[in-house]
Order: sequence, then structure tokens, then C-alpha cells
Amino acid sequence: MHIEIKTLDKSERTAPPSDGFGFCETFTDHMFEQHYSQGNGWHSATIQPYHNISLDPATAVLHYAQTIFEGTKAYKRPDGKINLFRPWENMRRFNESAQRMAMPVVDEEDHLQAIVQLIEIDRNWVPEPPDSLYIRPVMIATEVALGVRASKNYLHYVILGPAGTYFKEGFNPIPVYICEDYRRAVQGGTGAAKTGGNYAASLLVGQEAASRGYSQVLWLDAVEGRFVEEVGAMNICFVYEGRRIVTPQLSGSILPGITRKSVIHLGRDLGYEVSEERVDVHEMLAGVKSGKITEVFGCGTAAVIAPVGKFGYGDEEIVINNYEVGPVSQRLYEELTAIQFGRTEDRFGWTYQIDGG
Ligand SMILES: *Cc1c(COP(=O)(O)O)cnc(C)c1O
Repeated sequence: MHIEIKTLDKSERTAPPSDGFGFCETFTDHMFEQHYSQGNGWHSATIQPYHNISLDPATAVLHYAQTIFEGTKAYKRPDGKINLFRPWENMRRFNESAQRMAMPVVDEEDHLQAIVQLIEIDRNWVPEPPDSLYIRPVMIATEVALGVRASKNYLHYVILGPAGTYFKEGFNPIPVYICEDYRRAVQGGTGAAKTGGNYAASLLVGQEAASRGYSQVLWLDAVEGRFVEEVGAMNICFVYEGRRIVTPQLSGSILPGITRKSVIHLGRDLGYEVSEERVDVHEMLAGVKSGKITEVFGCGTAAVIAPVGKFGYGDEEIVINNYEVGPVSQRLYEELTAIQFGRTEDRFGWTYQIDGG
């Protein structure tokens, strides 16, 4: 892929914020984009100054939500280089989401190289640890037509923004509300794709949970309302007796998280027993109450590991591990972030290094 590059002059560039930037509230000076048209394939790849997109009011994505995205991060290493964490997995999942949403796939290597070139241009935006630079690839349907069918045209773009801690709690336990009345995704639906509609469908319950003092929602399966699926934008793990880690098996309606996959691999490497199983919510809550479940944590790119301090279920409040960070969550957080930030040897070949320049 040839990328035409038009960058801002040094004097036109903005100084990256040094701290207090929240989670992706500002974006870097440049963005990548390419266009797709039926018959022509992908073309007109550019990296250019960050800019607005102008869309006709009848553009397909605005009506029927044919849109996908990804989320990954760039981390500053102690040697000044920049790490990407398992970016090949994101490139593949982007295409899997595209296929589910009847959108065209992009060349995975080209996609990765576009991200690398963009980061090289905006490299001074990669913050100091423990912060990182969030990478958001997106694809939207751009055909101007109200007919309900897959669009003939698409826009694929990538933007970057500095990311501090995801939760206001930082690396501290969060309260999670178990949703009884609504479902996030069904088998055969779009739950395994990173597509905007899944999030739109979750916002109402998110508001309800927030009004009760909970920062995230735990979703149950859509058929029986009995099996644990995942938490907001994270997968979920349960620790039994401090040594066995259980995460719900991929059901077709759970998003296959890369952090989840990494926790499974790393957990085994660290000597924990790790299994993917169906998790019955009632058995799980009984396990928390009896002390058999010693820790619960969410895992996802944004927060890495998010310990769960309590569950709300109906009117009940079930506190986990005295609302404290447990040793397994702590260890996984430290080991994972050490690999991501290049503080330790990358023994699994998970990182992609970009020269610090
Ligand atoms: C992105 C996402 C996750 C976490 O995936 P990671 O690859 O670990 O970031 C989990 N659940 C949902 C619904 C997601 O969108």
C-alpha cells in the first residue's frame, strides 16, 4: 500500500498535554485514512492532519450502523522505543468484525504498517508510563443511500489519543452491577464483533447502574439470563481459592478479548490453573459469599486488569475480597503491564517495537 503523507510543519503542531488528559479526550495531530469503493477496492491511503469528516445526511452508517472499530495501545519503553501489544490480533479481529458486518476486509499487514507510520509521525504524543497512547481504527459505511443493504463505499481511518487510567478508581476495585432485565448480545447476533450497535444497546443499563453507584455492568446470556458473559468493554475472570482462574467460554455472543487471551496464556505460564467454562451467576455469587471465589477481575485493553470490589444483584450487594485488590489480580496486572511497557523480557513474542527516533 502506498500512503501519501502530508504532515503539519513543526510550528503548526500542538504540544501534547503532559498530564491530566483523561482517557482519550484529545487526539494527536495526524490521522490515517483510506477509501473503498466497489469495483475499485481500497485506495487513496493518506496520513494527513487530523480533520473533520463531512458526511451527507443520507450516509448509510448514520442510519443502519454499519460500523466497526478496534482498540489497542502504544507504550513507551524504558529504552525510549515504543511497544505495540499483540497488534496482529487486533488487525485480525478488525477483519472478523468487518466480515460479520458485511464490510470489506483490509490487508492486515498494510493496516499495521499504517498504524506504525502514524505513530512514528506523532511519536511525541506517546506519554510516559503508566499512561499510554490509545489507537482507534474505525471503518464506516459511506454510501449515500437509504436502501437497506451493505454499502458500496467505506471509509477506514485510524486516530490516536493519549490515555490515562480508564476508571476514576485507577487500579482499585470497581463496583459492578449485574443486569437482570436487559441483554447485550445473543448467539447468532453481533456480540463477538466490535461494532457500535452493541455499545448503543448497552448505554441505558450503564446509566441505570451509574445511578445506583456502579461503574460497570455485568451481562448475562440472552437465552436463560443465567450464564455470565462479560463486563462492559471487558471480559471477566474469577479466581477460585487463589490459584484457579475461570473465565466464561466464548459463546458467540462474547467479544473475544486479546487481554482475555493473554491472561489465559500468562496465567498458565505463572502456574495457575486456567479454564474457560460456563459460569452460572447463582453458583458464582454463592462462591463469592462462601469465600471459594477469592477474586474477580475484568480484563481489557483500556483498564488491563480491573479488580471487582462488589456485585450488585437486584437489591443485594455482594462484596468480594473485602473490596481489596487481590494477589492474583495484582500479579497479572504487574506481569502484563511489564511486558506491554517493555520492562521485562517479552518471552511470548507479543510486542512489536517501533524505534523511538
Ligand atoms: C474490546 C472489548 C473487550 C476487550 O477486548 P480487548 O481486546 O482485551 O481490549 C471486551 N468486551 C467488549 C464488549 C469489547 O468491546
